[in-house]
Amino acid sequence: MKAIRVHAYGGPETLRLEELPLPEPGPGEVLVRVEYVGVNYIDTYRRRGLYPVALPFTPGEEGAGVVEKAGEGVLAFQPGDRVAWSNVLGSYAEYQVVPASRLVPIPEGVSTRLAAALLLQGMTAHYLVEATYPLKPKEVAVVHAGAGGVGQLLIQLAKAKGATVIATASTEEKRALARARGADFALPYEGFAQAVREITDGVGADVVYDGVGQATFEESLDALRLRGMLVLFGQSSGPVSPFDPQVLNHKGGLFLTRPSLHHYTASRRELLHRAGEVFRRFLEGRLSVHIGGEFPLSEAAEAHRALEGRKTVGKLLLKP
Ligand code: NDP
Repeated sequence: MKAIRVHAYGGPETLRLEELPLPEPGPGEVLVRVEYVGVNYIDTYRRRGLYPVALPFTPGEEGAGVVEKAGEGVLAFQPGDRVAWSNVLGSYAEYQVVPASRLVPIPEGVSTRLAAALLLQGMTAHYLVEATYPLKPKEVAVVHAGAGGVGQLLIQLAKAKGATVIATASTEEKRALARARGADFALPYEGFAQAVREITDGVGADVVYDGVGQATFEESLDALRLRGMLVLFGQSSGPVSPFDPQVLNHKGGLFLTRPSLHHYTASRRELLHRAGEVFRRFLEGRLSVHIGGEFPLSEAAEAHRALEGRKTVGKLLLKP
């Protein structure tokens, strides 16, 4: 089978298409023929070695496809079933072995293409607004990178909770997209904390969902109300430098958390609940997903260049 391999951490050029033997599913595992791969920002962190994994490796941790073979003891899945998964490394390939415990059945009415576009970022947006900082009606939420993959879904789910959403994005085109997804305000990054204060009559936002990291972190703290929460869930601009917790005291008894999707899908019950909620909202027409680009698997490097170059909107897919 064909797969993308990384032999040394580095730039997009390290993503090389290679021929590998077809893997065999072990006990409790399932071999899936991958129809679509979801590209996520985390794939670039792993490629660069920011989140290290043993070399060489096949990147990617989201996909959707059809069960080819079920390993010993797997009763829940059979050949031909349509399935999706996230947080299992090795998706940039024609086939992937996935533990049955991490597979999610794709409901009728959702294509494998849409499932690969929705699952990881949709579940992320879901846990952020439902569990990390459960938004209440009329609360004010700041969503950075509002035209991005997670950003567009997060705006929609935050609006569905009745919140006022202030998005940020780097270009007017991206800000227009954030508004089209429901953001009440869409701002450039420059001076956003001050703008949030003005919009909220000096009070500040209840929560900032910050996946940008280094470039926005400090101002995100400045944009919060007394005892507001900064949910730092990513670092597309680079990792945040170590900082003194006393800053949280000075800025108003703030809360800071750094969550990851796997903390909110650790049990099979929670995984199926979140995936089910995302698919249900999509099927009911209450959640739209914007596929902003699709590349052949062999052009994974191009997808990474576009993502890191801030040239993309919405979700990127690879097609094996
Ligand atoms: P996006 O589609 O949002 O792409 C990243 C965006 O970040 C860019 O389009 C860009 O938007 C913005 N950005 C700001 N500064 C920079 C910079 N210096 N370099 C590059 N991009 C920059 O990606 P994803 O939707 O895949 O992920 C968004 C964030 O969410 C990432 O940090 C990711 O790691 C995180 N994430 C975290 C999860 C978790 O559970 N913790 C799960 C899933 C994603 P603009 O041009 O508008 O600034």
